[in-house]
Amino acid sequence: MSRTSLVWIFVAILVVHVTWVVSTQTAKPAGPLRIAKVKGDLYMISGEGGNVAVYVTAEGVVLVDDMFDRNHADILTQVKSVTDKPLKYVVNTHQHDDHAGGDFKMLPIAEVIAHKNARANLVDIKQPYYEDTPGTPIGLPRVTFSDEASVFLGGKEVRAKYFGRGHTSGDAVVYFPDLKVVHTGDLFLARRPAPAAAAAPSRPAGVNIYVDYAQGGSFFEWTKTLDGALTLDFDTVIPGHGPVSTRQDLTAFRADLETMRSRLAGMVKQGKSKNDIVHTLEADYGWRATGCPPSPPTPGCLQYQQSDALFAELKR
Ligand SMILES: [Zn+2]
Repeated sequence: MSRTSLVWIFVAILVVHVTWVVSTQTAKPAGPLRIAKVKGDLYMISGEGGNVAVYVTAEGVVLVDDMFDRNHADILTQVKSVTDKPLKYVVNTHQHDDHAGGDFKMLPIAEVIAHKNARANLVDIKQPYYEDTPGTPIGLPRVTFSDEASVFLGGKEVRAKYFGRGHTSGDAVVYFPDLKVVHTGDLFLARRPAPAAAAAPSRPAGVNIYVDYAQGGSFFEWTKTLDGALTLDFDTVIPGHGPVSTRQDLTAFRADLETMRSRLAGMVKQGKSKNDIVHTLEADYGWRATGCPPSPPTPGCLQYQQSDALFAELKR
């Protein structure tokens, strides 16, 4: 290899490195999104952040969630690819910025609706919240509800229900009664089928959830909240993250959550320390602790960063 080509390779590596440093120090670029039909006139946008439901009616479109601020333009493009109807409403499942981070840009073009606790959490901005996009403007929903709110548009209904605490203090379960579909937000995370080689059959039943104690979440209330959701008549579930799932998937998730919680609470009763609990969560349930700083909010470490509150709740 000539000396000149070596110099050019070095220059190329330097350029790539400088670009990487600059891009990791500024806001993340938006990732590519895709839209797919769920059932009837209901679609799901996914690819980054939380799943967005798109319900098309003769009078306009209702969205459930709006991802990160940076996904706004692409969400509108995805909606346009299935309908010419205008966007009218956005219902937030909760306030985390991968679900409601687009509210600021939605407010001038749509009515944004959230549970009153989700709005209060947005006003407080307790950490961890804006873990991914610090400094992004926050949009406050203009309409809130306590137990239930419905949007009636084009002869169809979208019903937001509050069943109690879980992932946060303001999780809405959004129901599409005509289609028997619910959007659960992060109260339910769909598990992708593990590749056979990577499967860990010896792992005890459990769920890789995030209880956001700083925003009013509760490990103990979570199953009761899911029981409320399960009183609705549905067969299809849009999870907060992951592929479209079934009612059976949600029931299994609830059972695994309870099994895991009983085991952890039992360990605490036997006098195990917080470190023992954290170690078990990491070894048996796939939570991450090793290498995580206690603060500031770090992507991938949020569960660990609230483990004091988790331990306190298990102790009660
Ligand atoms: Zn969330």
